Amino acid sequence: MIDCHCHLNFHAFENDFETVIKDAIENGVHTIINAGTQISSSKWAVDLAQKYDNLYAVVAVHPHHADKVEKNWLEKLEKIASHPKVVGIGECGLDYFSYQSNGIVDPLLQEKVFISQLELANKLKLPLQIHSRSEKARTRILDILKTHKNLLQKIPGTFHCMAGSIESLKKALDLGFYIGFDGNITYKSIPPDEPELLSKLVEYTPIDRIVVESDSPYLTPIPLRGKRNEPKYVIITGKYIAALKNISFEKVVEQTDKNVYTIFKL
Ligand SMILES: [Zn+2]
Ligand SMILES: [Zn+2]
Repeated sequence: MIDCHCHLNFHAFENDFETVIKDAIENGVHTIINAGTQISSSKWAVDLAQKYDNLYAVVAVHPHHADKVEKNWLEKLEKIASHPKVVGIGECGLDYFSYQSNGIVDPLLQEKVFISQLELANKLKLPLQIHSRSEKARTRILDILKTHKNLLQKIPGTFHCMAGSIESLKKALDLGFYIGFDGNITYKSIPPDEPELLSKLVEYTPIDRIVVESDSPYLTPIPLRGKRNEPKYVIITGKYIAALKNISFEKVVEQTDKNVYTIFKL
């Protein structure tokens, strides 16, 4: 199985990433894509990918960091993204949710940084991993993607950690995006500031358009919620998807792995 989006490049894994990678492989998670959220963590994701055969990187500036970028951030990102183990631009997008640790960054600034990265992905012919929170931001992202359709690859990428309305999900699928689901699909309540239970979105999305992600260290699935998340727990999320869709876990693994290979040139 593949973990299509995680952050072993974050401080939470600084002291034991080697063990975490080993555990993932031993549990059947043979490939991991780490996502950058700023220049430094993108660089770190590439360093890890260079060190381990089964690790890849997507690199970008997350909307939370849109107000902290240096003047030449785009040139720096392009340089990092030119590494052969960089398979996409992400996570980038818009975020209008007010977190305890991070208020809402000026939406216009977020858009500027997002669109610059759409242009970079087009220049480098790379697919995207899109971060969208909450539904209002997602609606705006879908509008931007529609008007910049000429910048998208034939298979444009993923909406990572999908949430929102069925209507938005349908629009993302219609644009050709694949949908990333995480451990939070096992949670029993609707996410804050979102309109729909995540399990409903899983039920709606065809299995040949789903990828599974851990988003480690966040979003640990039930029954481990509260602990630090790790790539090996995508197995729990994969089993949950199998149960929701009434198909075998083996089928989920086979198809979601295939989907990752279709989107990203690993
Ligand atoms: Zn995200
Ligand atoms: Zn993430």
